[in-house]
Amino acid sequence: MQRRPTKEQSRHWTNCLGVCHFTAQRTIEHCLPRAHRIINMRGLINVGTHCAVNSVLQCLYVTDDFRITYSTVASELTSVLRDMDRNTPGMPPCDPNPLVDALIRYSGMTYEVQQDADTVFKCVLNALADDGDPRCKQASGLWTIRKQQSAKCSTCNAECVSHHAANNVIVYIGNNEPNKLQDYMDDYSETFRVSDYHCGTCQEETELNVTTDITELPAVLCFTVARGQRCVQRGELMVNTGAIDVPEELDCSRMCATSQPTKYELYGMITHTGPYEFSHYAAFVKKMSKWYFVDGDVVKQCPVLPLSYYNVPAHLYMLMYRRI
Ligand SMILES: [Zn+2]
Repeated sequence: MQRRPTKEQSRHWTNCLGVCHFTAQRTIEHCLPRAHRIINMRGLINVGTHCAVNSVLQCLYVTDDFRITYSTVASELTSVLRDMDRNTPGMPPCDPNPLVDALIRYSGMTYEVQQDADTVFKCVLNALADDGDPRCKQASGLWTIRKQQSAKCSTCNAECVSHHAANNVIVYIGNNEPNKLQDYMDDYSETFRVSDYHCGTCQEETELNVTTDITELPAVLCFTVARGQRCVQRGELMVNTGAIDVPEELDCSRMCATSQPTKYELYGMITHTGPYEFSHYAAFVKKMSKWYFVDGDVVKQCPVLPLSYYNVPAHLYMLMYRRI
């Protein structure tokens, strides 16, 4: 029996916990309402371990301004995204295999084992950034977060400032971290201390205080939930199944002192199901104000409701927010 969400709940997508991983893949599909018409969305053929590629592709497909040209990865990506755009009802699913082959040629990583959706996403952005065509670099730059890092000697205050870029924000869960993404971002900090530091200026054995500030927020903000967790007893990588409450609208004004707009709207979510190394990925994507669930060749329209409404047995893994 599914509970109707309260008005307050329906403004958030919340994932749930503790459901059998092995039966989860098709359960998500079964949890969604049946009678919705599929409009203007195409699924992707899921062969073996391609669900990571497929879920990233669906998010790229609904990213506004993500237009690319040429290079092997870029041309195959263009080709499959164009193919996904030919989406009149009744069309068969698209074939992502030429793109998978191009990614293998670019990065050397194999798809005989399951790849992490976050790794696939970064591989695609790196391939575009490495492309000779400036438009590909521009497409990759939609996700670029600019940071300034200051490393300061705690004895003499000698400071070294450097600049970095990243294309996602890691969200840590559990261990007293906030379970609401908005609270997590309001308290966001990348500060740590290095002990056993030898300062070249004051020549003291001392500590180094490292502070990183975000100086520029991107047009598209990607969050990756840190799901991998090393089991102390067995040494294996386990899935951290902690829940995170995700708002449809996120205010990042406390993350970054900037004159740019800091409000973002959720439009893509990749879910993770199963053990860490044999996981399955699917995506919820928003296109033309409608939410769709896409799992390989399965595409279903779904109302904007929290994931808990569907009793979704998967965990939120990657989140895409666009600036509004
Ligand atoms: Zn010093």
